[in-house]
Amino acid sequence: MQLIWLRSDLRLHDNTALSAAAARGPSVAVYLLSPEQWREHDDAPCKVDFWLRNLSELSHALNELNIPLLIRQAARWDDAPNVLLELCQQLAIDAVHVNEEYGIHETRRDLAVADALKSRGIEFHSYLDQLLFKPGSVLTRTGTYFQVFSQFRKVCHERLHHALPSLVHAPRVQASLSIKPDKIPADIEGFDSPGDSLRALWPAGECEARRRLDTFTDARIHYYESERDFPAKPGTSQLSAYLAAGVISPRQCLHAALQSNQGEFESGNVGAVTWINELLWREFYKHILVGYPRVSRHRAFRPETEALAWRHAPEELLAWQQARTGLPIIDAAMRQLLETGWMHNRLRMVVAMFLTKNLLIDWREGERFFMRHLIDGDLAANNGGWQWSSSTGTDSAPYFRIFNPLSQSVKFDAEGVFIKHWLPELAGLSKKEVHDPANLGGLFGVAGYPLPIVNLSESRARALAAFKNLPSRQNAGAGDE
Ligand SMILES: Cc1cc2nc3c(=O)[nH]c(=O)nc-3n(C[C@H](O)[C@H](O)[C@H](O)COP(=O)(O)OP(=O)(O)OC[C@H]3O[C@@H](n4cnc5c(N)ncnc54)[C@H](O)[C@@H]3O)c2cc1C
Repeated sequence: MQLIWLRSDLRLHDNTALSAAAARGPSVAVYLLSPEQWREHDDAPCKVDFWLRNLSELSHALNELNIPLLIRQAARWDDAPNVLLELCQQLAIDAVHVNEEYGIHETRRDLAVADALKSRGIEFHSYLDQLLFKPGSVLTRTGTYFQVFSQFRKVCHERLHHALPSLVHAPRVQASLSIKPDKIPADIEGFDSPGDSLRALWPAGECEARRRLDTFTDARIHYYESERDFPAKPGTSQLSAYLAAGVISPRQCLHAALQSNQGEFESGNVGAVTWINELLWREFYKHILVGYPRVSRHRAFRPETEALAWRHAPEELLAWQQARTGLPIIDAAMRQLLETGWMHNRLRMVVAMFLTKNLLIDWREGERFFMRHLIDGDLAANNGGWQWSSSTGTDSAPYFRIFNPLSQSVKFDAEGVFIKHWLPELAGLSKKEVHDPANLGGLFGVAGYPLPIVNLSESRARALAAFKNLPSRQNAGAGDE
């Protein structure tokens, strides 16, 4: 008997480990509930709820194939070896199959599980599935991990020209086993269930993920390059939650994008090329996580930036978290995050720069807060995005290029449609006034809306001074980019 241990690969189609297990013989699936570990990793309640809803869909789909999905408790990943060993012995399992996960804890867990199983004669097989390219297989000529995205992408393109990663077949119906699937819990203690309105934005299941991918690649992908920076427009795929939970695979995304562009990834439609580029950013940050494990230990990619004199400003941090900074584009974006579990990419960069530059608050505070609220929270992408914005990361924004939230607002939400949607208290302002209500004069600004908590030009100068004072490597490096 084969066991497929599901983690961040909650789908039936193009699931490497699942197909490999099923090809070898009768299979059973298991998922471990690890609430203590999830809490330690700051996994958001809406993300945990999304996992459970997808597990429930997947359990039904597996059941149609007579593959029972079992649920076991392993509060922390340290418990995983014993829990899995016990299950394997109970069911006389010959081999356990998993899709690789990246990150220090994930790797340590899998090694411990593999060792425990092997000591009892049970095989452990892991497969590349979450990525197009195995970390460690895209390296510089001197054999190190790339630190610059454009160079990484060049090698990825060469690889894609050589061979496209192919999709794997879904498993077939197997003979019925005398094992009943477990009931998927509706919630987990300590993780509040999100409201129905948030859930309705992110329906569970592969059909929904596929529907999103198809509607995006059928038409919208062609406008992606020109629409993707405008948060009021549906210019992006909104697939990140599905990719993060593995409800859809990057291979499925790549193939659909290629199909919309006559098989081209470097030429042809600029929208499709740009979107495939984003899939490669996803890839890049996961490779960084493996190549430079310090980033998953909450360390800066650029060690010299550890010396930065971040401000301890709990009230300003709270104002940022609670969408009360007095800067409409920041507050509207933060409300979008709090209410939907997702934020538009342009705004993720804007609010992250505002926190780390204008407020000069440590990027780790923002990273943690995002992780605790994002339905698509992913250590590699989130860390990469935060370290990019705070100029502490690989290939990051040079410290002296600081986004001005007001000009970003005027440029990317010119009509104020996004702001007014999330801040109805500003609905009466004109499209000129809405970006900066404090500019309207008066002691108290617009009724019900706070005055800015920080002066943008003074705080910009403060950030520049703080970065300039760092030891020389950062300054020398930044000028080169
Ligand atoms: C501060 C900050 C934090 C972020 N945190 C996360 C996170 O926790 N999880 C996450 O998936 N993305 C994160 N991103 C990247 C990006 O914002 C989201 O992937 C994107 O907004 C998701 O929307 P979409 O699915 O419509 O993306 P699309 O524009 O349609 O892109 C397609 C897919 O490509 C991937 N992708 C796109 N941009 C990036 C990127 N810059 N880095 C890595 N992958 C990317 C995602 O999987 C995305 O679903 C973060 C970015 C920043 C600046």
